[in-house]
Amino acid sequence: MGLRKYQEKRNFASSPEPRGDEAKARRRRKNAPLFFCVQKHLASHLHYDLRLEHNGVLLSWAVPKGPSLDPAIKRFAAQVEDHPVEYGAFEGVIPEGYGAGIVMLWDSGTWAPESPDVDAALAKGDLKFRLDGYKLKGSWVLVRTRGYQRPGQKATGPSWLLIKHRDEWSGDLDITEFAPLSVKSGEDFPAIMAAQDPALWLNNPKAGGGATGAMLRSVIEQAAELKLAELERSQPARPKRERKR
Ligand code: MN
Repeated sequence: MGLRKYQEKRNFASSPEPRGDEAKARRRRKNAPLFFCVQKHLASHLHYDLRLEHNGVLLSWAVPKGPSLDPAIKRFAAQVEDHPVEYGAFEGVIPEGYGAGIVMLWDSGTWAPESPDVDAALAKGDLKFRLDGYKLKGSWVLVRTRGYQRPGQKATGPSWLLIKHRDEWSGDLDITEFAPLSVKSGEDFPAIMAAQDPALWLNNPKAGGGATGAMLRSVIEQAAELKLAELERSQPARPKRERKR
């Protein structure tokens, strides 16, 4: 797929997302472990973006309900445009445009294909792989379906199902509930937003209706409160610094 679609969708003057350098990513050491991540993305809908490094890009699937450790639960995964490898470190606020919202690095680590030929597996629509992240481990499979789309899904790319294989890492623990925070900052959405400038969003909230809109509004309010508390904490520190001089 390459990065053209990714770059066309974004305005890098206003988005903090990386533009990406595919050629540089492809020059990586041949036997270097492959990177994977899952980014929890509060945008028009909350979803989890699964990304697997392959041929200098991150193959990407948007998983509305997030991964499940239960082999009996098949999670709908819409394949989306390839992302730059640099995107795997990204956590922050996309203030406007495509994907506007908050991105949390929910899990990251390395992955290894269990299918012998990744390109052939992708073409066939049956990619078996192992994950070694903080939260997700063990054997998984992505199976392409025949254009199956849930009502209300805006997905335009191929539809897949993400399924956990039964192994020592499978079980009925709800991993998205059990481990909801960032593996990068240890924080939740409000603190990730507060690290940026919540004022930007208070004046220009993209939060629409429904549950997602309410969630986003609540995150913005919490972020503003965190920011305010931070400012208040920083006030009494001032005389101390003055005494040092
Ligand atoms: Mn996304």
